Amino acid sequence: MQQDCVFCKIVNREIPAEIIYEDDRVLAFPDIQPAAPIHILLIPKKHIANILEATEEDQDLLRHLLATVPIIAKQVGMDEAGFRTVINTKDNGGQTVQHLHLHILGGRFMTWPPG
Ligand code: AMP
Ligand code: ZN
Repeated sequence: MQQDCVFCKIVNREIPAEIIYEDDRVLAFPDIQPAAPIHILLIPKKHIANILEATEEDQDLLRHLLATVPIIAKQVGMDEAGFRTVINTKDNGGQTVQHLHLHILGGRFMTWPPG
């Protein structure tokens, strides 16, 4: 738990979110400013500022995060049409919340390249 981290506060139920998936290590909820018809954030419950800060001991957690993506995609019905998974890192990546999170976006065709 990191003080003043919005996603840690969601993990601790100090800030409300519509939790769509949860297990002992990860949590998923809709993005408050959706960039697509379906826009879900998947986070580790452990505070890791970004992918660069993940350590050797986080390797299994990172595997678990990635393995949760298809579970969520199926749950929200994006497995047939497909979806996009994004991790923004630091300034040039456009990261605004300093708690590692995967964006899972879909419900429409996602253009490429991103802006
Ligand atoms: P990023 O720009 O990759 O750091 O993504 C952070 C995302 O978190 C943005 O898309 C925000 O809209 C989203 N966000 C920030 N605060 C909340 C919140 N309280 N609940 C849900 N999503 C949030
Ligand atoms: Zn945090």
